[in-house]
Amino acid sequence: MLTVEHLVKQYPQAQSPVLNDISFQVPKGKVFVVLGPSGSGKSTLLRTIAGLEPIQGGRIILDDQVVETGHLLGKRSGGPGGLMSGSRSSDLRTRIGMVFQSYDLFPNRTVLDNVTLAPVLVQKRKRDQARQEALELLDRVGLADRRDAWPSQLSGGQRQRVAICRALILHPEIMLFDEVTAALDPEMVREVLQVILELADQGLTMMIVTHEMAFARGIADHIVLLDGGSLVEQSDDPEAFFTHPASDRAQRFLSTFT
Ligand code: ATP
Ligand code: MG
Repeated sequence: MLTVEHLVKQYPQAQSPVLNDISFQVPKGKVFVVLGPSGSGKSTLLRTIAGLEPIQGGRIILDDQVVETGHLLGKRSGGPGGLMSGSRSSDLRTRIGMVFQSYDLFPNRTVLDNVTLAPVLVQKRKRDQARQEALELLDRVGLADRRDAWPSQLSGGQRQRVAICRALILHPEIMLFDEVTAALDPEMVREVLQVILELADQGLTMMIVTHEMAFARGIADHIVLLDGGSLVEQSDDPEAFFTHPASDRAQRFLSTFT
């Protein structure tokens, strides 16, 4: 279970926080979808959870372990529980996986090496064993035959599927997906969404930022709407959220997609 409590995020030099008192829980095995207009703070939220951005207030808790606590801008962290971003242990970092909108594969490594690099170098797993698992994962996303290709030889959809394998091989307890289909041509969107649907069926805990409303509606167990850095609506009933959103803000947001 991921618990976010009163999270506040402010970028240095910014006048005001981009995330304001955000609280929610993502239970194990559930799919949590984050919606919101451009600039509402969706990517920032995922990045703070992944440990890529420090937070200035609140706490991020994975199961019973506090993985991040807020610190005023400019202050260094101190003491247990006061982990600064960037200083999360590699163990802690690998418990949360993230896939981004832009494919960030290593261009000078083959598909297989892209997937095996982190387990071998960071988790110190045996190369043979990592290779074996990488091949199984690539097979699951339909890319076993592209194992020796370079990223530049792949389509966008194929690269995103490799990026998903690269995250999965670290056995994260929760996966964060930030608009992973936004940069793809329409025909490649489906193949990537299909992989994410299969992961949901297998019970992987996920947080998903997406503008694909039909996909969100189909996969979500829980939906939140972020606007201006605040959670304006939360729902455990995605069907109800999409058909009868409670807030005016959610109604307006959804009407832009129809
Ligand atoms: P989109 O749908 O366009 O991806 P988003 O909801 O993901 O938008 P964020 O990228 O999280 O929004 O940005 C939220 C706010 O934080 C925006 O006002 C943005 O300008 C600001 N912001 C994002 N990254 C930084 C940064 N590194 N430094 C300063 N401000 C930033
Ligand atoms: Mg974003």
